[in-house]
Amino acid sequence: MAFSLSAGFAPLAALADPPVLSKLGDSPSTGMYSNYADDSGAVTRKYLGNAGADELSEAELVPALVSALDQLSKYHRPVAVPEIIRVPHERIEAIVCNAKCAALAAYRPGEGIYLDETLKPETDLFARSILLHELVHYVQDMSGEHGDMRLCERWYRREQEAYAIQKVFLFMTGSATRVGYSAHKSTCDDEPLSTGSAPAR
Ligand SMILES: [Zn+2]
Repeated sequence: MAFSLSAGFAPLAALADPPVLSKLGDSPSTGMYSNYADDSGAVTRKYLGNAGADELSEAELVPALVSALDQLSKYHRPVAVPEIIRVPHERIEAIVCNAKCAALAAYRPGEGIYLDETLKPETDLFARSILLHELVHYVQDMSGEHGDMRLCERWYRREQEAYAIQKVFLFMTGSATRVGYSAHKSTCDDEPLSTGSAPAR
């Protein structure tokens, strides 16, 4: 459930495929889209609203990301939003891996989203994408997505989806940073004994 820089970066070239924009371009219903690069701003505004803005206030941040998530995912807009708890990096490590690790954020059901206090999602798009990633876990939890699956399988599917949405967000905002989820499909051999935050790797 945690976002970690070590959780799977792939080389830019391998992830630079533009599935979203190609799909939009093929669709006759999105008349505002064209292949001209200058129109990418219009696409971004349509799908991300102001979530892609250069700067957001703390009050604007979560509502903007919830709206973007409404556009980018299959989930219904949540009626409430989780608390964002900014904590020192050591706290994230304690929650996620119980050791030194590169985790930057973690969603904990019933508590909220813990965010490394050095992250500035108001002004930094990559930090914002990390917050979006954790918000995906929140709406997954609210909707009971994959609740019927074994814990390890559910964790794998949820991470896969969170990274995919984060990747689309980064692509649409023109961020040079790319993320990918490269873990091998879980065989459930290493199933954690309890629920809560899953390992960052
Ligand atoms: Zn995650």
